[in-house]
Amino acid sequence: MRSTIYRRVASYGIAIAATVVALLLSWWLQPFLECTIGAFFYLAVMVTTLYGGFRPGMVTIVLSTLAINYFFMPPFDQFTAADPADIVQLGVFALVSFVLNLLNSNLQHSKATIERLNPQLIQDSHDRLQMTLAAAQMGLWDWNLVTGEIVWSPEHEQLFGLVLGSFDGRYETFEARLHPDDRARNSEAIQQALQNRTPYQHEYRVVWTDGSVHWLEGRGQVAYDEAGQAVRMSGTMMNIDQRKQSEMALTRSEQQLRAIFDAEPECVKLVSADGVLEQMNPAGLAMIEADRLEQVRGQNVCPLIAPAHQQAFLAFIRQVAEGKPGTLEFEMIGFRGTRCWLESHAVPLHFPGEATTQVLAITRDITEQKRAAAEIKQLNADLEQRVAERTFALQQSNLLLNSFFDAASSAAIGLCIHDHDLRFLQINATLAAINGQPVERHIGRTVAELLPQLAPIVEPLFHRVLATRQPILNLEVSSEVPSQPGLMRHWLASYFPILDETNAVRAIGVIVVEISDRKQAEASQARLAAIVASSQDAIISKTLDGIIVSWNASAEKLFGYSAAEAIGQPITLIIPVDQLEVETQFLHWIRQGESIQRYETVRRRKDGTLVEISLTLSPVKDAQGTIVGASKIARDITEQRTLDRMKNEFISIVSHELRTPLTAIRGSLGLILRGVYDKKPDKKHRMIEIAAEQSDRLVRLVNDILDLQRLESGSMKLALQACDAAALMQQAADAMRSYAEEHQVHLSVTPLPVSVWAAPDAIIQILTNLLSNAIKFSDAGSNIDLAIAVMESGKQGNSSVDVVGRKPPSAALSSPRPHPQAVFSIQDQGRGIPAEKLETVFERFQQVDASDSRDKGGTGLGLAICRQIMEQHGGRIWVESVLGKGSTFYFTLPLVAEDVGAKAKL
Ligand code: ADP
Repeated sequence: MRSTIYRRVASYGIAIAATVVALLLSWWLQPFLECTIGAFFYLAVMVTTLYGGFRPGMVTIVLSTLAINYFFMPPFDQFTAADPADIVQLGVFALVSFVLNLLNSNLQHSKATIERLNPQLIQDSHDRLQMTLAAAQMGLWDWNLVTGEIVWSPEHEQLFGLVLGSFDGRYETFEARLHPDDRARNSEAIQQALQNRTPYQHEYRVVWTDGSVHWLEGRGQVAYDEAGQAVRMSGTMMNIDQRKQSEMALTRSEQQLRAIFDAEPECVKLVSADGVLEQMNPAGLAMIEADRLEQVRGQNVCPLIAPAHQQAFLAFIRQVAEGKPGTLEFEMIGFRGTRCWLESHAVPLHFPGEATTQVLAITRDITEQKRAAAEIKQLNADLEQRVAERTFALQQSNLLLNSFFDAASSAAIGLCIHDHDLRFLQINATLAAINGQPVERHIGRTVAELLPQLAPIVEPLFHRVLATRQPILNLEVSSEVPSQPGLMRHWLASYFPILDETNAVRAIGVIVVEISDRKQAEASQARLAAIVASSQDAIISKTLDGIIVSWNASAEKLFGYSAAEAIGQPITLIIPVDQLEVETQFLHWIRQGESIQRYETVRRRKDGTLVEISLTLSPVKDAQGTIVGASKIARDITEQRTLDRMKNEFISIVSHELRTPLTAIRGSLGLILRGVYDKKPDKKHRMIEIAAEQSDRLVRLVNDILDLQRLESGSMKLALQACDAAALMQQAADAMRSYAEEHQVHLSVTPLPVSVWAAPDAIIQILTNLLSNAIKFSDAGSNIDLAIAVMESGKQGNSSVDVVGRKPPSAALSSPRPHPQAVFSIQDQGRGIPAEKLETVFERFQQVDASDSRDKGGTGLGLAICRQIMEQHGGRIWVESVLGKGSTFYFTLPLVAEDVGAKAKL
């Protein structure tokens, strides 16, 4: 308190003293300081204020003002001022001094306040520092480089995992805690800081006593003495585990991103808004054909863009840089000149703290895609073109198909198409008419629905075509049509599969052509051909030039030339030279459409012999009626001529044969009638006998002639049946026994118990005729043997006559084996027959001796009748004879099957 009062008093004392000093100095130095009277008083004010404060300063100001007024302003030595300038000067002094006092006192006051507050602030600062260090896990260290002693703050010890206060201040202790891998580098960092006089900063790991590793960052500053020697180093130590983890995470993340960036197959690039390249991955470099990033980094990418796309590209990246992501397709020209189409998807990329926004673009090569798209476009265009063409073609073909169907109709050809279900897809009018339904009614309906009567025939055909995919061609179908019941019509139907491009059956096509007319014509033709082929007449046709064009079997037989030999040859082949002129005349008439009927002439056979023929010639016309040739029917009239001759002969013989007994009868009866032998009864009786004999002979003759005629004409049909051969033989022998006795001839029968196919009466007629002849031509006392034998087919005895080929009766035809025959024989010991007569005796009115008829009462017709009967039995009759020794007549008959294998051999 006392010091405070003292200080206050001293302050005022200073104020007075300062004023006095100022007064004295001003007084003393007045001559030198004319205009600066107040200067020292200002100093006085300032000194006072500096040491005493405001109030003492005010005292100094008042005192100084009074002093100046009193001593330095006239009137001197009084406190008044006459001159206004002095008053102003005095006022200015007072004002300036007041300001100085005020400023000084404020300064002092502030200084005092600072001094008062300073320790508190220091304490607060220290506390905050401690808190901050603790919060920041930061320690402080101080290393006396001269003594080597190190001082650590408690936080520092904690950062090293040490118990507080346990650090012994030695560098080795510090270094022992460092991770072994980091010690050397830390020493280097310290040395570097010392040598380079740079701040020390180093990160390293420490290993705590519990084994855990922690990252720390040490920072420090070196202090030097006046001689420039480093004397101490002090700084901070901070835990950077978190930062390190973040850094490592960041590094990993960056590595990952870098790996992705490098491995990304698309081009990833970073460009500025004006197109300057910042970054680009290897794929991008490859895309632009750059060897390394440095080649392009910092350069504008626009030159790589095809000129036509550069403006669009720049506009695109500017738009992206303004925050609008987007996609652009453009063409690029690589460093090596390769052009390719790219698609770039870009987003804006703004890095914090940077003013500009960059563009991150991912670009992929779409050249292939473009090319493929172009190809697809082209293909589409081609396809559309083809579809259009195909559609047009289909329309055309549909039109054509319809026209074709119509045209087929007009050509009377039926057409239709069926689907898999046998429904009609299309049908033309002709086939619809055959089916008896209108065209429209067919479409969509099946055959079974429309034509149930036809379905069983055609459905299996459809199914066969579907299954085999093979056509069924030209199948003849005959049926009645609904519109004309009862009339059978004929068609040629073809069913064929309509295949698609995969060879599957798409539909079934049917073509139906009516062939009723053709069938009729064919039938007529066949009949005609059969007639021609089977005609007994030679039928030949020739051209108007006389070239043979047809030659039937009878012509072959008649002329000896085969059809192959004759056809194509001139007709003169068979015309004798002397007939050529006539032939020429005939052709002339034929050309004029005239026919020649039954002209009898001769033709030459292949063997050179002539044949008599009856010729009928007719012109042959083609479909238009034009005469194109001639048909020639040649009938062999040789036989006819022979028959005519035979007929004439027969008539003359018959006339003669009939006339002979008639003449005898007429003569006998005439003699009797005239009474020549009235008186001679014996003679008259003889005449009557002769007349009766001749009448009998006449009757026989007439009967034989009638029999023969009936047999030859076929009007006498023999009914064949199984007959007991022995019975037949016995019956015939019995009938002839009295006649034999009359001729004193012994008749023996050697039968076999076999059955033969025969007409029994006819066989008995043969046997009696042959026995009668044998008796007639045998001498008294001789023997006649009627016998039978069985001959295996194929064996013939010693005859040259073919027995084998003869047909057995129809009942025996069922046997597959050759049929055995029964051979009857009638052997006599009579006069025999000359060799040259062995055949002729079987002809009509043929006798060995002309007297035979007269002497023996024969007609010469018996053997002819026998041959006719045998022919009707399919058998054969012949004779073997030795003149003067006797004859043996044979005839054969087929055995009935059950008797086959019996009994005797010939
Ligand atoms: P005919 O009524 O004359 O016997 P046939 O036709 O029976 O007529 O016989 C014809 C001729 O064959 C006989 O006239 C006879 O000359 C001769 N002839 C037939 N059978 C015999 C026979 N057994 N021996 C000799 N000649 C015979």
